[in-house]
Amino acid sequence: MTDIIDGKAVAEGIRAELESSVGALKDAGVTPGLATVLMSDDPASETYVSMKQRDCEEVGIEGIHVEIDPDAPASELYDAIDELNDDPEVHGILVQMPVPEHVDSRRVLRAIDPTKDADGFHPENVGMLVAGHPRFKPCTPHGVQKLLASANVDTEGKDAVVVGRSNIVGKPMANLLVQKADGGNATVTVCHSRTADLAAKTREADIVVAAAGVPEMIDGEMLSDGVTVIDVGVNRVDADTEKGYELVGDVDFESAKEKASAITPVPGGVGPMTRAMLLYNTVKAAGIREGVEVELP
Ligand code: NDP
Repeated sequence: MTDIIDGKAVAEGIRAELESSVGALKDAGVTPGLATVLMSDDPASETYVSMKQRDCEEVGIEGIHVEIDPDAPASELYDAIDELNDDPEVHGILVQMPVPEHVDSRRVLRAIDPTKDADGFHPENVGMLVAGHPRFKPCTPHGVQKLLASANVDTEGKDAVVVGRSNIVGKPMANLLVQKADGGNATVTVCHSRTADLAAKTREADIVVAAAGVPEMIDGEMLSDGVTVIDVGVNRVDADTEKGYELVGDVDFESAKEKASAITPVPGGVGPMTRAMLLYNTVKAAGIREGVEVELP
């Protein structure tokens, strides 16, 4: 029997626990606040931001939303970030990516106060993660770690293959899996578009985390029996549906399921976890800033 890992249910459990962490903060006189900043008129980005705001509301986090005209000079965004850095009611800041081309996205990440960096992308937080004492783990790989734990997949001593080396998923994922810590201690191989023989790598893996952004590129033929498959990919492909498309992962679910002992679906796998872990980072940031010890899931 293959365990279909229900990311929605795991995320719901985490959100419920976070709600009581928020309660504890409020008892101490602190309302955690998350600021989302949107400098884009891309409908997908708008949707992501409004979902994040709704998530905040559900667990009792104060959502603050700042919108900047995508044609405005970059300085407007930097000024808005400075203001949020100084705002005592804001504990976490997230700038929705991508930002317009005339804005330097690396400068944006550096502009956010690292102690308010809810995404965990500031170089200081990246460094802390790599050095083995993470402050804010990036949401998607952190969510994957939680999913593995929820499915009782012990990563220690396992061969893990991460497909993708982006700064937001692949690299931090590999860094978490290799840490000498719970949810780590794996032997990690990072694959990317220049990997010579991807299938040879994935076939050797006990755990495959797919984050390439290529629809259904990993199929059952590329996997060994009993593997755990975490599919981070979210890809729109044309389909005969009302919207004219459907969402598929980087893994061909049907054939991979035949080989896997555990696998995440798309949608309903990693996606809900990413959202939950953003709330986690916000609650953690509020606890650190206000000197309140909060229990985290
Ligand atoms: P990027 O495009 O930034 O990175 C993709 C990575 O995959 C790159 O390192 C690239 O290699 C590698 N890659 C591309 N094609 C291949 C291939 N044929 N074989 C091996 N490696 C390949 O994407 P992201 O990391 O931002 O996102 C990856 C996927 O995860 C996307 O589908 C995205 O939508 C999804 N996603 C889902 C989230 C969720 O919450 N569920 C959150 C974030 C992302 P190279 O470096 O050589 O170009």
